[in-house]
Amino acid sequence: MTATTAASAAYIVAALLFILSLAGLSKHETAKAGNAYGMAGMAIALAATIGLATRSASGVGIGLLVVAMVIGAAIGLWRAARVEMTGMPELIAILHSFVGLAAVLVGWNGYLSVEADVEEQTEVAPNLLGIHSAEVVIGVFIGAVTFTGSIVAFLKLSGRIKSNPLMLPAHNALNLGALVAFAVLTVVFVVEPNLLVLSAVTLVALALGWHLVASIGGGDMPVVVSMLNSYSGWAAAASGFLLGNDLLIVTGALVGSSGAYLSYIMCKAMNRSFLSVIAGGFGNEGSVSADDRDYGEHTEITAEDTADLLREASSVIITPGYGMAVAQAQGAVAELTRKLRAKDIDVRFGIHPVAGRLPGHMNVLLAEAKVPYDVVLEMDEINDDFAATDVVLVIGANDTVNPAATDDPGSPIAGMPVLTVWEAKNVVVFKRSMSTGYAGVQNPLFFRENSRMLFGDARERVEDILKAL
Ligand code: NDP
Repeated sequence: MTATTAASAAYIVAALLFILSLAGLSKHETAKAGNAYGMAGMAIALAATIGLATRSASGVGIGLLVVAMVIGAAIGLWRAARVEMTGMPELIAILHSFVGLAAVLVGWNGYLSVEADVEEQTEVAPNLLGIHSAEVVIGVFIGAVTFTGSIVAFLKLSGRIKSNPLMLPAHNALNLGALVAFAVLTVVFVVEPNLLVLSAVTLVALALGWHLVASIGGGDMPVVVSMLNSYSGWAAAASGFLLGNDLLIVTGALVGSSGAYLSYIMCKAMNRSFLSVIAGGFGNEGSVSADDRDYGEHTEITAEDTADLLREASSVIITPGYGMAVAQAQGAVAELTRKLRAKDIDVRFGIHPVAGRLPGHMNVLLAEAKVPYDVVLEMDEINDDFAATDVVLVIGANDTVNPAATDDPGSPIAGMPVLTVWEAKNVVVFKRSMSTGYAGVQNPLFFRENSRMLFGDARERVEDILKAL
């Protein structure tokens, strides 16, 4: 068997492992196995790629490859070991930006190596030059949009810049203009490849990526994260074409299509138009999030009184949100669930599709704390049951339980389906202050007659309740 055939066989095995990985990651019971398949696939892919490179590259080239791999792996291990669960979204965003940057560099390299080879024409056959140029320009475009888009997503998710949408005048026209400019520049580049046009495409795409994500409001960020995941896949696939690497094409297409499907699911869950989100808030004419309306007074409750409420309840629903992840309260919440169920109280969880900062964030935390899967229900499965529930514990959730989404058409989160917790007899909200959630919108739930605020770190307050019980 030649090295090329062996590498092709290894690529097929790796591609199958990636498909098994995606299938595994779609359910929390099989997610760990899914991760293991992904890691095995990537190890095989790396080994095969290096094996192939040893045939053509010089000793220095192989040395550089190994050094790059060791540095990359060390940084990856270091970051993964230190990242908090709450820091995962921004880490993922920055990793997407690397894929985008790599695609831009591969594209530029594709152009420069052909330019350097005009005399001998060994890089690309003259009759395939047009196709090659199209691959270059498309790869650079997708890569650059992914690069700056992911950087803005990183800055927004890590709180380094505000999550409010940037609303430049005529922002839709700007996006459309950038797409038209890209189409024109592509034609010009395919006809006559040159440095100036490729630089212009790169600049247009960098600006477009930045503007697309900057224009999207905090509440819609979940869709942006999955959308950038999809873009990074297509950027990798474009690099695969340029490098003539089949596995990169297949893997890129898998990531691209699964990310697009996830974005579609998130849009449906949030009642947003897919096209409007990928077009950078198209149709969003800039609802204001600053809200100085007077909602009245809020009422506080102590952990001891919450324990009394729970003791008298026969049904309890817990709706966790990002604050549960920040407080790392899942263990205490799981303990509370066990204690209440031991007292024959019906305890269930209501999970909003975008609660936390990652798709499935709450499910992962609850699974880690060994909360039984059968009491963890999706929003659609539980929303009709709040009216017949004695106590709802809102643990570090805010936007996902905000009645403004259904009651206030002018709200930036208007139209987003939310957990209708206020229909229950009693609602206890665990948070540290009266500050807003990720979307920056005030929450009228806190001022309702049946709502009580239990201030402080969610984990400490749940532990106080456990003591009082
Ligand atoms: P929010 O981000 O709306 O609110 C979280 C609340 O938790 C805050 O109001 C905060 O209030 C409170 N909190 C923070 N730390 C603690 C703590 N230690 N103890 C107690 N409370 C705490 O959370 P939701 O989960 O309801 O909504 C998620 C939001 O994030 C949505 O807007 C969603 O669109 C967005 N998003 C979701 C992504 C996803 O994929 N799931 C990705 C990107 C964005 P205080 O400071 O007063 O304590």
